[in-house]
Amino acid sequence: MFELFDTHTHLDQEEFHEDREAVLARARQAGVNRILVVGISASSSCQAVALAEQHPEVFAAVGIHPNYAAGAQEGDWEQVLRLVEHPKVVAIGETGLDRHWDFTPFELQVEYFRRHLELARRTGLPVVVHSRECDQEMLEEMGRAMEQGPVRGVMHSFCSPPEVAQQYLQWGLYLGFTGMVTYRRNEWLRRLVAQVPEDRLLVETDSPYLAPVPHRGKRNEPAWVAEVAACVAQARQVSLEHLAQQTTQNALRLFDKALDAQQTS
Ligand SMILES: [Zn+2]
Repeated sequence: MFELFDTHTHLDQEEFHEDREAVLARARQAGVNRILVVGISASSSCQAVALAEQHPEVFAAVGIHPNYAAGAQEGDWEQVLRLVEHPKVVAIGETGLDRHWDFTPFELQVEYFRRHLELARRTGLPVVVHSRECDQEMLEEMGRAMEQGPVRGVMHSFCSPPEVAQQYLQWGLYLGFTGMVTYRRNEWLRRLVAQVPEDRLLVETDSPYLAPVPHRGKRNEPAWVAEVAACVAQARQVSLEHLAQQTTQNALRLFDKALDAQQTS
């Protein structure tokens, strides 16, 4: 048997209100014994922390997603700052930049992203970064941040060209792969994932989104990170057991506060 760490989920969302316990039970059965729930707003971050308090295998990331930054109320950022102190908060995010949707003016997205990066540097926690249709802007912001001192983190749901991957890897960042790697037309992404250094690779579901083949189109859930892992293992021509062990080790190196939380619980 192997163990997997689903490093990106939104299990706090209403899609799981009916059957969250069953979803967590299926994850456990599939060998998924650690799950990161990533907040997208102050209230979602609170819920992520509440889930982490209720379940030993759940950990939380807290932050304000670029698409939700425009909707942030007074006090929301302070709420995030308070939550960061919680023993089961192992990362900052979800943060980043998004040119696909236009829910938040881009300048405001940049401002929030910089805040999250500073918080990550100050706390030593890694950032969970969302980047959609803005490779150039993301490279510029990340480059600017790295000049001010190293920041650890993951480029979540990575699906940018190899030269972009190369730059992130040079900065010491990790790349997270979702069900997108399983889609038939994404042969290019399977070729890319085959080239990622073994110690920088993470697997994730992004539940409830991006369900992997053969579940594509359904509500995604953490148990199916096993399908993502199997696909990545095949692309890299290693066993699923090997891939699972390596990605779990990577996740625990990046989200190292998870180990402290487990030891004290
Ligand atoms: Zn997300």
